[in-house]
Amino acid sequence: MSSLRPVLRKLRGMPASDGAGVKLVRVIGTPQLPDLDPFLMLDEFGTDRPEDYLAGFPSHPHRGFETVTYMLDGRMRHKDNHGNEGVLVPGSVQWMTAGRGIVHSEMPEQEQGRMRGFQLWVNLPASEKMTAPRYQEYGPEHFPETGVSPGVRVKVIAGQVAGLHGAIVQPATDPIYLDVGLQAGARFEHAVPEGHSAFAYVFEGSARFGEGAAATPGAKGELLVFGPGERIAMEGVQDGTRLILVAGRPLNEPVARHGPFVMNTQAEIRRAFEDFQAGRF
Ligand code: FE
Repeated sequence: MSSLRPVLRKLRGMPASDGAGVKLVRVIGTPQLPDLDPFLMLDEFGTDRPEDYLAGFPSHPHRGFETVTYMLDGRMRHKDNHGNEGVLVPGSVQWMTAGRGIVHSEMPEQEQGRMRGFQLWVNLPASEKMTAPRYQEYGPEHFPETGVSPGVRVKVIAGQVAGLHGAIVQPATDPIYLDVGLQAGARFEHAVPEGHSAFAYVFEGSARFGEGAAATPGAKGELLVFGPGERIAMEGVQDGTRLILVAGRPLNEPVARHGPFVMNTQAEIRRAFEDFQAGRF
C-alpha cells in the first residue's frame, strides 16, 4: 500500500484587504506561512456585502508568475493591456500566466449579491518567468462534477480523477487542483506525486484527513498542509463539506518578491519596476 501523507500543519488565514479595498482572507502568503513552493499566495474571498467587494482590483501589473482565479459565486470582469477581456462567472477558472508582464483590472460585474471564490498565485521557474503572457480560461461547463463514489463528487480543474482530466495544463509545476464535495462518512483518496507540495483548504463543513484514530480534523476556514507521501486520504464529517485539494511540484529556486512582481533576484525586481514604469509590460 502506498504511503499516506501526514498533516504537517493546520492553520487559519488572516483577514486582509487588497486591490482598492476588497476584504478577503489570506491563507497562504502570511507571516505564519509566507509560501508553500510553488504556491506564493492563496486568498479566499467570500461575502454577501457589496461594500466588501465593490471597489474591485483596478489596473495593476503582474510579472514572473501565474494567478489562478476560481469563481464560486458572483461575476468578475477582467481586462488587460494586451486586449484580453472576459467575465468570470460562477464555476469558471482563469489560469493566467503573467510571464514577462501584463497590466490588468479585475472588477465585480455586479452591484449586489454574493461574491465568492479563490485566487491562488503559482510561481514560474526562472526559465519561464519572461514567457509571453497567456490565459487558460474556461467556463463552468468545462469542469463537470464527477461522482467518484457514494457521497463524493469532484470537479477536476487540474490533474486527473477517475479518468477525467482537468482542462488546465501547466508542465512547469504539474499542478493538481480539485474541488471536492463530501457527505458525512464518505471517503476520498487521491494520489499525489511524491515530491509535490500539497494542501487542502476547507470552505464548507468539516472533514478528517488521514486514516483511523490518527486522522486530523479540518473545519471550514482551515488549511491543512501535507507532508511527504504518495496519497492523501479524507473523510467527510458533516454533509455538504467542500474543500479544495491543491498540489504542485516545488521549483526550489530563490524567490525575490515585491508586491505583484515575483522574480529570482532583486536586480530582476528592479528591472520589473523599470519596465512597468516605462510602459514595457
Ligand atoms: Fe491581478
